[in-house]
Amino acid sequence: MANAQKRSSRTSILSLPTEVLSEVLARVASSSSADLFRAKLCCKLFNEVSEAKNIYQRVSLDRFEIVPWPKNHKVSRFLKKCRQSKNPEALYRKGVVDFFSDKHEDSALENLEEAANSGHADAAYALGIIYIFVGGDELKRKGMRLLMKSRLLQGRVNLCRQNLRALLRMIWVKNPVFLNPTPICCAMTHERKTSSWPMHPDEVEESTCEGCACDEEIRAICAALPYR
Ligand SMILES: [Zn+2]
Repeated sequence: MANAQKRSSRTSILSLPTEVLSEVLARVASSSSADLFRAKLCCKLFNEVSEAKNIYQRVSLDRFEIVPWPKNHKVSRFLKKCRQSKNPEALYRKGVVDFFSDKHEDSALENLEEAANSGHADAAYALGIIYIFVGGDELKRKGMRLLMKSRLLQGRVNLCRQNLRALLRMIWVKNPVFLNPTPICCAMTHERKTSSWPMHPDEVEESTCEGCACDEEIRAICAALPYR
């Protein structure tokens, strides 16, 4: 009798309100897309709830190639849905790939801005670099401000630089902006610190001058670009 009571008082996951189930599945999705796809196969309800926007917005893309090759239409459709649902990583990837390969420049910038505004540090870093390359006094200042002052990038610049360099090695960089002479951020005539030994391009020398620090970032990104 006691056992029967115990059994009947248990709550089935299927009896949860849809919002709660949706939150559970969103958390599953944010840690592993593979687990989300397994959950979708469990039952019709899971499959239906998994189609909600918040799931696509939060799903982890760790297991997806940045540049899927060969092109897979199912994957492309999935990533498109992620972007439509404002998944920051999906927006970042599309933004960087499009901008650097000289496709849909305006929407590429919009995607990166959207991702950065939702707290994606890699997107903020990429935008800072792009603004400096595109240039003009105002954009360059905006780029420098992003790289040096953005709270989003505090303590994360090294990782963001590595991620952007890794991504750039996977794509064809065709945007003429990156084939022009290297922009210079430090307008001062003070003596620049130069290392006596060539540094690894992943490393950036710490500088007390913000212009010089941005120039170091640009140098590290240029080292990952072809034809330079
Ligand atoms: Zn300087």
